[in-house]
Amino acid sequence: MYKGVNASDGYGIGVAQVAVAPDLSFTPTAPEDPEAEKARYAEALKKFVDQTNAQIERMIQTVGEESAAIMGAHIEFAEDEGIKDMVNGAIDSGMCAEQAVSDAYDTYYTMFSNMEDELFRERAADVADVKTGLLADLLGKEVVDLSQLPENSIVVVEELTPSMTADIDKTNVAGIVTETGGRTSHSAIIARALEIPAVLSVEGATTNIKTGDMVIADGTNGKVLVEPSDDELEQYRKLAKEYADEKAALEAYRGKETVTGDGEKVLLVANIGNPDDANTAADHDCEGIGLFRSEFLFMDATELPSEDEQFAAYQKVALRLKDQPIIIRTLDVGGDKEIPYLNLQKEENPFMGFRAIRYCLNNPEQYKVQLTALLRASAFGDIKIMLPLVTSLDEVRQAKALIEECKAELDERGVEYNKNIEVGTMIETPAASLIAEDLAAECDFFSIGTNDLIGYTMCADRGNDRVSYLYQVYQPAVLRSLKRIINEGRKAGIMVGMCGEAAADPLLIPVLLSFGLNEFSVSAPSILRTRRIISEWTKEEADALAEKVVTLKTAAEVKAVLQAAVK
Ligand code: PEP
Ligand code: MG
Repeated sequence: MYKGVNASDGYGIGVAQVAVAPDLSFTPTAPEDPEAEKARYAEALKKFVDQTNAQIERMIQTVGEESAAIMGAHIEFAEDEGIKDMVNGAIDSGMCAEQAVSDAYDTYYTMFSNMEDELFRERAADVADVKTGLLADLLGKEVVDLSQLPENSIVVVEELTPSMTADIDKTNVAGIVTETGGRTSHSAIIARALEIPAVLSVEGATTNIKTGDMVIADGTNGKVLVEPSDDELEQYRKLAKEYADEKAALEAYRGKETVTGDGEKVLLVANIGNPDDANTAADHDCEGIGLFRSEFLFMDATELPSEDEQFAAYQKVALRLKDQPIIIRTLDVGGDKEIPYLNLQKEENPFMGFRAIRYCLNNPEQYKVQLTALLRASAFGDIKIMLPLVTSLDEVRQAKALIEECKAELDERGVEYNKNIEVGTMIETPAASLIAEDLAAECDFFSIGTNDLIGYTMCADRGNDRVSYLYQVYQPAVLRSLKRIINEGRKAGIMVGMCGEAAADPLLIPVLLSFGLNEFSVSAPSILRTRRIISEWTKEEADALAEKVVTLKTAAEVKAVLQAAVK
């Protein structure tokens, strides 16, 4: 059994198709006619761009526009003037096209792979992909073709490049196993969009697994089994069936209201990262958006998105989810979310540094561009503004003052917006939890960000395995904080939601219901399951469980009691 990163849920059982990248080695030559060599390069470039455009067209049909846009990066890197000059310059100085392409793309690859931010590091895969495409063409080699696979294939590759993912035929691929890539890599994102089980970063996968091997890709738990025993096969067939049955059974909850067992209505909304995700959220039957992480608009760009660009993105969501509430969080830069072109100073401790609302309030003119775009979009739907990483009342007051300035400017411009737009805050720091009553008095809603709240409360990094026993929502310190936040918000009569991952935790849902949470904001694929679990608990049952849980002194005891209570 091999371990890897659980990148896309589900259990794929099938026959391995190991796709090894073509041999792109070459012996450098010194061409006599640089102009002819440059023409060879230009021809390879054109062919690559044409092929990529055709892939984009196919992807728009299979995974949607936003995911297809990932391939746009290939075109950018192929047609980048800086890279083209570098290649042509090297050919002029006597290099062959293969060497010039290889060197230029290696330079960019090194630059991207040394960047601190994971999302930027992952652009290195795009650069490598373009290099492979161009070299293969110059050398007359075929790149791995995943569009013609037999049924029930488990694709095993060193690296699943975005262009390979674009070729995958969902009906024939039962699972994906790779040697590289993390949960946030483009490949993982597309695998999830295609709903194909995927296990990434499995060391030695392409050498240890042979084409024709029977393979199980357990994308839920990040495991790969090669030539499984009869018992294992049976166990996994059962799991796969249960998974498929559960998915099918959850369809009964589609189009239904989200109500507790005794009929109390709660709001079940989705977390999204880009405007196209609103389609996926709607497909999964969301009742609105509880968190639009607007930073992705900024991270996917090379310079600050303009007011019009931002407005278009927010408006798109508003138009797609007409009449549903849409909470858009203002820029949450810093910590794990770096935006290189903002040129922020390096800090000893970026998670506690100059980030999120701190950065925005310090750059009011820039912040006002986003606030204005949000206000303009509010004329097209029920958009609400949410402030990230709040730790003091001053921050909320200052942000609200800026919103008022933006409103006055829009009035002067004669532009429409919702004059009563709601402004709320994320509660994701212990400070915000402790002053929840003060914040509630000046906010229209709360949304609890457990991902950060757990980390800051427990002083345990959300990405550090060695402290993961502390990083748990079941820790009494975290539970008490949640109870207090919900209590204070509800006392003040405002909506209290949760957009951290804990909102979809099947064990915790009854406790959150008992505490009085009004809104659950979860990833799109978790919506129907969350609706089902909510429907399984009456207030009385949830209260009995929560009363017991809050008396417990350790996370282990809490978890055990919650597990025993699962319906
Ligand atoms: C959170 O902290 O719980 C949250 C939802 O925000 P993010 O995961 O984007 O930090
Ligand atoms: Mg957060």
